[in-house]
Amino acid sequence: MAEELIRLRADLTDEAPPELGALLDVHLMLARDDALCESALHWIQERRYNAEWALSAQLEVLARQFDDMEDEYLRERKVDLEQVVGRMLSTLAGQESPGMAAMGQGARDFAGADPLVLVAADISPADMLGFRDGVFKGFITDIGGKTSHTAIVARSMDIPAVVGTREASRLIRQDDCVIIDGDAGAVIVNPSPIVLEEYRFRQRQAELERARLSRLRHTRAVTLDGQSVEMLANIELPQDAQGAVEAGAEGVGLFRSEFLFMNRGGQLPAEEEQFEAYKAVVMGMQGRPVTIRTVDVGADKPLERSLGGEGRHDHVLNPALGMRAIRWSLSEPGMFRQQLRAILRASAHGPVRLLVPMVTHLWEIKQVHECLARVRSQLADGQVAIGHVELGIMIEVPAAALILPSLLPWVDFISIGTNDLIQYTLAIDRADESVAHLYDPWHPAVLGLLEQVIRQTRAAGKSVCVCGEMAGDTLFTETLLAMGLRSFSMHPAQIATVKQRILRADTARLASTLGSLLTSEQLAAASAQELH
Ligand code: PEP
Ligand code: MG
Repeated sequence: MAEELIRLRADLTDEAPPELGALLDVHLMLARDDALCESALHWIQERRYNAEWALSAQLEVLARQFDDMEDEYLRERKVDLEQVVGRMLSTLAGQESPGMAAMGQGARDFAGADPLVLVAADISPADMLGFRDGVFKGFITDIGGKTSHTAIVARSMDIPAVVGTREASRLIRQDDCVIIDGDAGAVIVNPSPIVLEEYRFRQRQAELERARLSRLRHTRAVTLDGQSVEMLANIELPQDAQGAVEAGAEGVGLFRSEFLFMNRGGQLPAEEEQFEAYKAVVMGMQGRPVTIRTVDVGADKPLERSLGGEGRHDHVLNPALGMRAIRWSLSEPGMFRQQLRAILRASAHGPVRLLVPMVTHLWEIKQVHECLARVRSQLADGQVAIGHVELGIMIEVPAAALILPSLLPWVDFISIGTNDLIQYTLAIDRADESVAHLYDPWHPAVLGLLEQVIRQTRAAGKSVCVCGEMAGDTLFTETLLAMGLRSFSMHPAQIATVKQRILRADTARLASTLGSLLTSEQLAAASAQELH
């Protein structure tokens, strides 16, 4: 391996940046260092480890020493050591020389070569936000379900991701070539040339299809039998508004405001900062309605420690069933009113709708009304201009779906959060890959609740939207149309595909198949086939 490094060093052309030569020298030095090689030999002789295991064990010992170093520069050299050991392991495995690519990120920057994907045990939704500037072309995690917020943010970044692979971070090595097939939920490591070519072909096809679909951007979503369907966007950050408009969204159906509260080292955004963020979305949507959801922190989106009381949200027994969403807001009325003020103020700049997550009890919505009344009167006293703001609730807890008739008089609109509705109906943690196979949107209980909420809300003359992942998945488009849904909210990248499906649908025909879909599990499966 040392010979290979020497050869690479000698082959460097004059155009190669001088840092690359230096990097190769460092790797050569590390590869010959006794702290690595002699000690690995010791593990082999004393413990009878095989060579690969001995190197990995010694890497762990040295990595801990690097972690303890005070000097940040030296601490970061751990990466070089990991790359050297990675190269040794490849050599031991008889794999072909990976050339420059094996020099890791530094060399890639120099060579401007391969795109990067991130393979990690877990990535928090907050961390995902940090990657929105396009550092990575894909993600793979060991942990997480398809509707976990990490997966949702990856989807909104419109890049391939596979979550819940369990072992990927252990099995995939630095500089492996990987194919991430997000549609199939599959990861292929070091594919054969023929498989790689097949996927390159599929990638080109997908790009062509996307270009073709983008022509539907300004086409209205109207079914074959003349039913208009509203196509809204889900966004996480104010800067997403532009992409929503470009994708042809008629408004924002879900602005997950909690992402403004993350990655802030314990500091909550002040009212003014929130106002500017909401206003930016409202202005960015150029007169189209914007639905701002009040913070939905908790579960897989915890806030930093110092927010909302010392350690208060740490180590909770079951975060999905704990202090989440509106429960958190009502327990922090000062912060809640601050958010309400910022949202109401933004309504002076364009149409705003206020959406409350995870309502379970009637008194929760009554308390929201009280908070709103107080904030409105404060703003009126200060002669602050506000627009007309409608109030809606998310139906994501089965209890709320079941008491919908008593909630409806208190709200202007309903938005169904199927991600959570499925989680709480089927008792499946949506972020837990070990029960991902039980996360079943076709379960008759889920379909029954969905149909009931859509029917009852429409009968009350109020608008109803689905903003969970089901809305953006073409597998469910016809079923939701059959139930009477006429408002869908999804990631901007999904709008064109779903719209195409809607343009080809006949709601009258679909509605006639709904009865059988709802009556039994077998029929549900059969009807699902029939519908598609
Ligand atoms: C949902 O639960 O379906 C939803 C849209 O909200 P979130 O995914 O942010 O929990
Ligand atoms: Mg939810």
